Amino acid sequence: MPLRDAHNRTIRDLRISLTDRCNFRCFYCLPNGEPPLARKDTILSFEEIAYLSEIFVSLGIEKIRLTGGEPLIRKDVPKLVEQLSKLRPQLTDIALTTNGFDFPRHAWALKSAGLDRVTISIDSLDRDRFAEITGVDALEKVYTAIVSAKANGFEPVKINSVVVRGRNDDEVVDFARFARERDLKFRFIEYMPLDSGHGWQRDQVVAGREIYEAINAVYPLELIDETRGSETSWKYKFADGAPGEIGIIAPVTEMFCGACSRIRLTADGQIRTCLFSTNEHNLRDVLRSGATREEIVEFIEGVVLKKEPRHYINDPAFVPASRTMSFIGG
Ligand code: SAM
Repeated sequence: MPLRDAHNRTIRDLRISLTDRCNFRCFYCLPNGEPPLARKDTILSFEEIAYLSEIFVSLGIEKIRLTGGEPLIRKDVPKLVEQLSKLRPQLTDIALTTNGFDFPRHAWALKSAGLDRVTISIDSLDRDRFAEITGVDALEKVYTAIVSAKANGFEPVKINSVVVRGRNDDEVVDFARFARERDLKFRFIEYMPLDSGHGWQRDQVVAGREIYEAINAVYPLELIDETRGSETSWKYKFADGAPGEIGIIAPVTEMFCGACSRIRLTADGQIRTCLFSTNEHNLRDVLRSGATREEIVEFIEGVVLKKEPRHYINDPAFVPASRTMSFIGG
């Protein structure tokens, strides 16, 4: 039986954070540098991640996304991907989200190990602004990462961009043009209150609808699917047949929790049932206590039953998540 929560949602997607460290300092994520990092001995080893992944896949997980922090800060990620590849065919999709900085060095090894897809984050096409947003003068490196992803056969390449009022909302149409010119699946994400600096303000959120309208006015868009299924984004193609795709992820203004199929495992082995969970479930201690496979399965099933019905960002009594995006894994 696949994992099912108390609200009749089937859990098919697992996001695994490989590290809480990052070499970028994006203002919407980790503006003041890393908070105290998890102790090294609390971070799951790749052997532990592979073992737990095998159990998750036996419970119906079909997609695994490796993320962080910056996952490629961790050594030997291709070796982990190789382990995860052994979980096919039940595991149908292995993906990675990266800031691209170190991606070209690992692209070929990741592809050879069995990585299916890569998502690269880019929040400005202007060098100075990119540096202001991320704290690192690395736009050229991210461009190189995109080229490298394509050259190594990752097709299509997905791009994530967090749109924030007053910071990069004037670039939305430029991003769409970039997606057309380079044949990219470009995902626009609403700014969520998950930044470690707690600087998020509601008026900084650029609604998905507004992003859609800005692009559609210049490059008319056609919805690809009338239903979104468990996907986070509404997807559009360009009406004139140009390459590329636009996706709009609007968790703040158009909550999609009813169709959520995701759970997360943090680098230090905590299960999070929602990005905005205010508590976590310590799978690492269960694993390290010498629990049997059956006991681990029982623990995971019990945790999934506690998955929150929805997030509460828009409620007056909203309580921020217990940890921020760099810890949780986006
Ligand atoms: N370091 C990798 C990267 O840069 O893609 C992976 C981790 S990062 C936390 C994953 C994604 O979360 C990125 O695309 C990032 O833009 C997004 N993200 C981080 N903080 C966010 C926030 N406050 N609101 C919305 N998206 C956010």
